[in-house]
Amino acid sequence: MRMKKFDVIIMGCGPAGVAAAKVLLNNNVNFCMIDKETFPRKKLCAGGLTDKSIRVLDELEFEYQSVVRQECSTFKLKTKRKMRSLDVKRSILMVDRTEFDNHNLEQIKGQTKNVFEGEIVTDIENNIITTNKDKYEYKYVILADGVNGYSRVFSKIKNVGYSVEIDVQERNDEDITISFDTLRDGYAWIFPKGNYSTIGLGKFKNVKDDYKKLLKDFCLDNDVEFDEKMVRGFPIPAGGYIKKAVVDNKILVGDAAGLVDPISGEGIYYALVSGKYAAEVVSKKLKNNKVDLKREYNGKMVKSHLILSYKRFTSRIFYSPLKHFLIRLAYSNKLLLRLGVFIVFL
Ligand SMILES: Cc1cc2nc3c(=O)[nH]c(=O)nc-3n(C[C@H](O)[C@H](O)[C@H](O)COP(=O)(O)OP(=O)(O)OC[C@H]3O[C@@H](n4cnc5c(N)ncnc54)[C@H](O)[C@@H]3O)c2cc1C
Repeated sequence: MRMKKFDVIIMGCGPAGVAAAKVLLNNNVNFCMIDKETFPRKKLCAGGLTDKSIRVLDELEFEYQSVVRQECSTFKLKTKRKMRSLDVKRSILMVDRTEFDNHNLEQIKGQTKNVFEGEIVTDIENNIITTNKDKYEYKYVILADGVNGYSRVFSKIKNVGYSVEIDVQERNDEDITISFDTLRDGYAWIFPKGNYSTIGLGKFKNVKDDYKKLLKDFCLDNDVEFDEKMVRGFPIPAGGYIKKAVVDNKILVGDAAGLVDPISGEGIYYALVSGKYAAEVVSKKLKNNKVDLKREYNGKMVKSHLILSYKRFTSRIFYSPLKHFLIRLAYSNKLLLRLGVFIVFL
């Protein structure tokens, strides 16, 4: 069988991968996508799209409105003793990630046949990607295969956080519920999705904990029936982004590059924006070989890197023994509470 040849290969069809694909399509680049799963595939996620994510989706002309399950503009901020409601100007859009990712990929599949699903990448060497089914030759590869993908060989991501979740059916929550005092190094949440809610918690440090017990306690505090068998967990690479995201002709993006907010756990925005920028610089490089891939990509990512560095600094203060004091302080004044929410979800 003849080896398939592409100018660019995108590994992974999550938000980072599809954002890159949209840019490559717009630039008429000869590319393909490979994902180990066949879509729709289950993706563990609270499914909150912030204003930042929505802006990139709009810029890339993705249709996402039809898979938005709920729009939330009120946060219920709970501690064991107090509850405050806070309205935010820009709503968070709630999606079911399995549905959202499939919907995005369908839009790509409408424009190219070169999407290979159910193929796990097992090796990348000498410009050749080997999967369990085939071999592909490439000039550039965009590594968008998430935190647990093959690209760990290059990224060597350490210090990941962890998250657990359950989907609870037949709930009609109107608002987002957040509890910062359920655990020290993260927070617990209820994210509504119309007829069901995602209830979970994320820890953004590499500290072992009894996640199931913490989630059970949060469920009990919120009158949610807890079924241990339903709990699913997944790592969140919130330990800091990879400084060397460009390795020769490979660019790490999204979770594969550790691009996750270490306070809120937001990763969809960073996946979309890094996928977009990686594809822009690769398209430019294909037209002009003088383009410095590393410099161009890092230049475009400066703003994201600055925000994530600032968030990392803030997370060290917030997720520390000072946390309970800071929460008490924020609860004493609505303006301080608003400032706190702004810092976390900026
Ligand atoms: C519990 C939880 C809740 C979260 N909630 C939110 C939230 O509300 N809002 C938010 O913004 N972010 C949230 N995040 C973070 C967000 O889910 C990620 O940051 C985002 O999915 C990263 O996108 P990605 O495209 O980089 O990777 P992924 O979405 O992980 O996509 C990677 C793709 O690569 C494929 N792949 C992996 N290995 C291989 C291989 N060897 N060969 C081929 N394909 C491969 C996978 O099948 C997958 O489809 C949450 C994360 C967790 C775990």
